[in-house]
Amino acid sequence: MEKISKLLIGTNNKGKYKEIKALLPKYIKTHSTSEFKLKSPRENGLTFTENSIIKSKHFSKKTKLICLADDSGLEIDILDKSPGIYSARWGGKKGDFKKAIKRVYRELSNRDKNWKFKKVKARFICALSICYLDKKIVSVLGKVEGYISTKPKGKNGFGYDPIFIPKNKRKTFGEISSSRKYKIDHRFNAFKKIKRFL
Ligand code: IMP
Repeated sequence: MEKISKLLIGTNNKGKYKEIKALLPKYIKTHSTSEFKLKSPRENGLTFTENSIIKSKHFSKKTKLICLADDSGLEIDILDKSPGIYSARWGGKKGDFKKAIKRVYRELSNRDKNWKFKKVKARFICALSICYLDKKIVSVLGKVEGYISTKPKGKNGFGYDPIFIPKNKRKTFGEISSSRKYKIDHRFNAFKKIKRFL
C-alpha cells in the first residue's frame, strides 16, 4: 500500500486535534476541518465505530482528502456503560464539561448512594476510521481501563479527564501531563492499531 502524504484530521475538537496530530508521522501533511470551515455531521450511529465512520466519510467527501476521524467517550460500568456515545452530548450544546461531570456524579449517586466507597470501573474508548479516496474504510478500537475519582482533580486535558484515574495509577488524567497521558490513553492504543494503514 502506498504511504499517505496528505491527511485531513476529521475533528472539530481542539483537544483531540492536537493529540491526533502529535501521534501522526511527521512526513504526513495534515489539514484541519477549520481550514475548510466544515460543520460536523450528525452522529446518529449506535456505536463508536459507526460514528467514526460517519465522520470520516463526511469530511473526506467534502474535502476530497483522505480523512482520519475518531469517536470517543467514557463508559461507566454501573451506569450501564453511560455516557458512552453520548459523552459529548452530556455537556449540552455548549460542550460544558463541568456540566457533564456533574451529571456523572448525579447519576452515580442515584444508582448507588455508597458509590464513593467502592471502585467504580470505567474506561475511555476510541474508535478511529480512515476513509480513503476510493471510499474504502478501515476502523480500529482502542481502550484504557480505569476508575472514577470521587471528586474532579487537575486542570490538564479536557472532557472527563479530571474524574478518570487510569488503572494502576493514583492520579487522574487531569493531573497527569498531556505528554504522559498521550502515551497511555485510548486514542494512543487505537493509533497503534491503525498506524499500518497510514
Ligand atoms: P466525540 O467528539 O463525539 O468523539 O466526543 C467525545 C467526548 O468524549 C468528548 O467531548 C469528551 O467529553 C469525551 N472524551 C473523549 N476522549 C476523551 C479524553 O481523552 N479525555 C476526556 N474526555 C474525553
